[in-house]
Amino acid sequence: MRQLDAVVVGAGFAGLYMLHRLRGLGLSARVFEAGDGIGGTWYWNRYPGARCDVESMDYSYSFSEALQQEWQWTERYAAQPEILKYINHVADRFDLRRDVQCSTRVTSAVFDEAAGRWTIETDRGDQVSARFCVMATGCLSSAQAPTFPGLEGFQGRWYHTGRWPHEGVDFTGQRVGVIGTGSSAIQSIPIIAAQAAHLYVFQRTPNYSIPAHNAPLDRDFERRVKAEYGEFRRQARESRVGFVMERNDVSALAVPREQREGEYEKRWSRGGLGFSATFADLLTSQEANDTAAEFFRAKIRSLVRDPAVADLLTPRDYPLGTKRLCVDTNYYATFNRDNVTLIDLRKTPIEAISPHGLRTSEREYAVDSLVFAIGFDAMTGALLGIDIRGRAGQPLRDKWAAGPRTYLGLTVAGFPNLFMITGPGSPSVLSNMIVSIEQHVDWIAGCMTYLREHGQATIEAEAGAEETWVTHVNEVGHLTLYPRANSWYMGANVPGKPRIFMPYIGGVGTYRQICDEVAAKGYTGFTLQ
Ligand code: NAP
Repeated sequence: MRQLDAVVVGAGFAGLYMLHRLRGLGLSARVFEAGDGIGGTWYWNRYPGARCDVESMDYSYSFSEALQQEWQWTERYAAQPEILKYINHVADRFDLRRDVQCSTRVTSAVFDEAAGRWTIETDRGDQVSARFCVMATGCLSSAQAPTFPGLEGFQGRWYHTGRWPHEGVDFTGQRVGVIGTGSSAIQSIPIIAAQAAHLYVFQRTPNYSIPAHNAPLDRDFERRVKAEYGEFRRQARESRVGFVMERNDVSALAVPREQREGEYEKRWSRGGLGFSATFADLLTSQEANDTAAEFFRAKIRSLVRDPAVADLLTPRDYPLGTKRLCVDTNYYATFNRDNVTLIDLRKTPIEAISPHGLRTSEREYAVDSLVFAIGFDAMTGALLGIDIRGRAGQPLRDKWAAGPRTYLGLTVAGFPNLFMITGPGSPSVLSNMIVSIEQHVDWIAGCMTYLREHGQATIEAEAGAEETWVTHVNEVGHLTLYPRANSWYMGANVPGKPRIFMPYIGGVGTYRQICDEVAAKGYTGFTLQ
């Protein structure tokens, strides 16, 4: 069996940077990637309009000053093809490809207690032994398969936004149905509507979406950032969400109505995710949140001509921001087009896919193509898709049967030398993913160095430390309004999945301090052997 220092699972932003750091430590490593190419999220999600809603100057690696100086983004928010080009550039620039094996899905990772090593197997028949196993499998990589009855008999074409064909899809002249109205749907609907003969949007829950106001990247802004990129990155690392947004310490309820509306209006015109930081308590006080939600509802009414459609697009049963805020270009205005129809699945649920369309409890809609924008088995799906077994053969699937349990979102008790990058229990999806990825990879690399310098073979989270962390993650989550929504943060979008608020909401800066302190004190909460 091939012997390696480390196996990394996944060649997205996380896996590639991990490989770069492992090389720097002089460790042998192999990256296995299920896709036919590198890029993770940005390899798979090629649906029309796919774009990052963290700004380009923030959503990029900071580990190399030369890289961040030489790369030039074209837009305020980069589109999927540009991000994929960037990742490929990074892979070439740092000569990463020779240790990446694509088109290879890791099927199992089993800890051999006697040897103190992991045995990793793939669907291509590889079997390797590694001291460290690093899961860089992504938080939103396990696409939810559509399970609607009758789909197998559908005579048209169907697509999932998270598994989009590489050659693209031309919907010109077609009748198209989009199922779902999350971020992916909200980005693709305006573009599909402009192509299709008719677009039917099947909505279960309306979302709060804020305009992106995307534009070519302001070159003056770029120059200013690049002149002091180090400081810009430092602020991002210490921020709450991994990029600097204007924050406001004041309660939404502490200011007069006109001033409050003025603040919301200012944020709306600026666009993007900063809206939820308009006031200090939007995500902790229902009453404060109601004022923001009310502002949104008025916006939707002003943007959508048909009052019944506007009403249907208006979220009511969960606080703003507790499902991931969406960022759009022309989303609401798209519903003013004559060729777009919105269908309320709460009133008329989908009964089946028929050979030529989709049948709700009310009627049949004839379509040529169906687009499932139904999301992911988030945060745990990709990890539990692999048969991971720790001490005494314990399956991770068993250990996490009632929800994920980790120490720092990085490690699991009973699974020595196994690391997760942006795992559940870390800020991950509540942050700029690149900042969180770099922090985790650097922490893991630091940990491996420490083990070497101290002559230790393994590191393993203690059960007590894990328990304390899980409790803390829960407590902090429940200080907010997040648990009030049926979101994928809560596992609510996957039937049967345990309802746990999975990410850590204590903030990226605070979380980094906690991780650094654990390391500085000789890895408190871990057993080293
Ligand atoms: P999502 O947010 O989970 O949205 C899935 C949509 O499909 C929801 O509207 C959901 O309705 C609906 N749905 C799911 N199952 C359904 C069913 N059986 N019948 C009818 N409707 C169903 O997934 P997503 O849009 O792919 O986005 C996931 C996350 O990826 C985002 O929240 C974001 O973090 C990330 N993302 C980011 C960007 C970006 O950076 N711009 C773009 C895309 C995605 P319910 O709400 O009722 O469950």
